[in-house]
Amino acid sequence: VDTNNSQDVGNAQAQGGLMAEVIYGENALEALDCCRERTAAVTMPVPWETFEQRSRWRPSHVAYVSSMDLASVEALEQNLPPADVVIGVGGGSACDMAKYVAWKRNIPLILVPTVLSVDAAFTPTIAVRERSIVRYVGNITPERILIDYRLIQSAPPELNRAGAADIASIQTALHDWKLAATHSDERFDSSIAAQAQRCLEQLYDAAEDIYHVTPAGIRALAELFQEEVRLCAEHGNSRPEEGSEHIVAYAIEHYTKRHFIHGDLVGFGIYAMAMLQENNLDYAVSLMKRCGIRYTLPSVERKTLESILLNLVQFKRDANLFFSVLDVKPPTPEWVQYCLDSLPA
Ligand SMILES: [Zn+2]
Repeated sequence: VDTNNSQDVGNAQAQGGLMAEVIYGENALEALDCCRERTAAVTMPVPWETFEQRSRWRPSHVAYVSSMDLASVEALEQNLPPADVVIGVGGGSACDMAKYVAWKRNIPLILVPTVLSVDAAFTPTIAVRERSIVRYVGNITPERILIDYRLIQSAPPELNRAGAADIASIQTALHDWKLAATHSDERFDSSIAAQAQRCLEQLYDAAEDIYHVTPAGIRALAELFQEEVRLCAEHGNSRPEEGSEHIVAYAIEHYTKRHFIHGDLVGFGIYAMAMLQENNLDYAVSLMKRCGIRYTLPSVERKTLESILLNLVQFKRDANLFFSVLDVKPPTPEWVQYCLDSLPA
C-alpha cells in the first residue's frame, strides 16, 4: 500500500491472531486505486453516492444490500458475478454483507466504513438475521480497513456518536460480569476486565472529539472498537462489552418489532441498568452526554418501556441470555416508575 503523509497505518487484531491493516487519513480512499482486479463493491444507495463523490475509483460491479435476512444474503452472494476482491462500502449491513461474500468465496476483503455507528467493520463474525433474530455466522479478517475521515464525517454526526455506546456499555457489562462470577461458576478475568475498564476511560478522554466527529475522535473510536473486539476474542465471548444493557436493547427490538439505531437502545439500557446496579449512574450519564450518546428513547411510549422493563427477566429467560443484575435484582413496578420518572424529558 502506498501511503502518503496524510495517511497512517495501524493494525486491527482479529480472532486467531490475524491482522487487518487499518489505514487512517483524509484520503484513505486512495489506497483503493491499486485495485486492478475484478472487484465487487457491496454497498447501499446513500453511502455509495457519497463514496462516488469522494473517490475516482470504480469497481467492476456494484451490488446493493437490501436486507440482512439470511435468504437475501445468500441470494445476493449467489447472484454476484465472479470477483477477485470484495469491497464493503457503508454501515453495518454493507460491511456484514461484504464479510459474508468474502467468507463464502474465500476471497480478499476490503472494508470502507462510511459511518462508525457500529463495530461491524472490526468484528470477525457476520451478523445476519433469521426471523428477525440476529445470528452470527462465519469468521473473517479483512485485508484492509480504510478509515477515511472525510467520508465518515459526511454521515449524520449522531450516527457516529451512537457508535460510542458499544464502548460505554463496558461500565454496566463489567458490573454484570462480576455479579455472574460471584453468583455462578462463570470465570472472571481480572486482566481482561482491567483492560476493558481502560477502554472506558479512554472513551471518556476522547469524548469531546467523538462528539464533534474530528479525525482524532474517529480514530479514537475505531481504535477502541478494535481493542474491544480483541478483548472479547481473547476472552472467548462478549462479556467484557455486553451486559444487561444489551438485554434491554434486544428486548426493546423484540417487543416493538421496530428498527432503531443500536446505540440509542444501548444508551437507554446503560442508563436503566447502571441505575438498577447502583453502579455510578452519574458517570454513565456524564460519559453519554459528553459523547452525544442518546439515552432517553423519546420515540417509544412510556407504557411500552414500562412493560419491557417489567418483563426483562422473562425475556432474558426465554432468549436464554447470560447472567446479569436482572437475576439478582429483578425490576419491581416501583423501581420501573422511579427509573422512567428520572429520565430527562
Ligand atoms: Zn452492541
